[in-house]
Amino acid sequence: MKILVVEDEPKTGDYLRQGLIEAGFVVDLARDGLDGLHLALTEAYDLTILDVMLPGIDGWQVLQGIRRAGKEMPVLFLSARDAIDDRVKGLELGADDYLVKPFAFSELLARVRTLLRRGGKAKEAEILRAADLELDLLRRRVTRGGRKIDLTSKEFSLLELLLRRQGEVLPRSLIASQVWDMNFDSDTNVIEVAIRRLRVKVDDDFDFKLIRTVRGMGYVLDATE
Ligand code: CA
Repeated sequence: MKILVVEDEPKTGDYLRQGLIEAGFVVDLARDGLDGLHLALTEAYDLTILDVMLPGIDGWQVLQGIRRAGKEMPVLFLSARDAIDDRVKGLELGADDYLVKPFAFSELLARVRTLLRRGGKAKEAEILRAADLELDLLRRRVTRGGRKIDLTSKEFSLLELLLRRQGEVLPRSLIASQVWDMNFDSDTNVIEVAIRRLRVKVDDDFDFKLIRTVRGMGYVLDATE
């Protein structure tokens, strides 16, 4: 499997290339948009990992160029932290998935594998669901039983993570690194507080509770009884 990485930050680019090579992929690294687009159009890749902010032409333009040329390969977009507009724009332009910087390499690898399994044919669902709960990634809207739920941006990210990995018990340390960008699990209070608030909004008015605590392990969102 051959992957194109378009990333101008030397450290991130090298880190991605090295990690992907170690995971068994063949990797080409382009350090600016023009180079990236040229490679994407002339070589055959199974997947492209594309940074948004690039010298020359930016990630959007590279993505547009790829799609305009009729290339269907999956594109995983790397967007700046909390740049919600980036995600929407990326998905609208035909990106298959996005990852917010900084990210854990394990998370990137999981997304890459998922995209490769899908072969770029089916677009990522824009709505994540569990029972009667719906999270709309494009509109940044959450409803349960058709009723709108207002969430803060962190609560939204937390719920998105729980929904993407539903049925899986997520340790606090993983939630800390994915949602708060903290690489330690000593201060778990912030997560407990956020989970409690999220539960009030998502579960309090309903008999069927979706978010559960697994003692000593973490949290799980589970739509099965
Ligand atoms: Ca960049």
